[in-house]
Amino acid sequence: MTPIRGRPRQINSLPMASTSSIQQHFLEKIPLPVDFQRKTYFLRCRQCSANQIRKETSYRCKTCPKKPPLCPECFESYHL
Ligand SMILES: [Zn+2]
Ligand SMILES: [Zn+2]
Repeated sequence: MTPIRGRPRQINSLPMASTSSIQQHFLEKIPLPVDFQRKTYFLRCRQCSANQIRKETSYRCKTCPKKPPLCPECFESYHL
């Protein structure tokens, strides 16, 4: 008889890998354009405008390829 217990351990692919992607993203202040006259630079939050909300932010995601402007409230939900 072959014992049922003690079967060789299988390498399982962990499905939780995608949930940690936000840890690779960082909020940074949007640098002012060189010819910009005012103190703070504001852009429309990408996530808010997708939700039809008019909101401006001076922050963006540093690590996203497109560096989208995001307000701190939307930063997490944008990456979910
Ligand atoms: Zn927002
Ligand atoms: Zn990002």
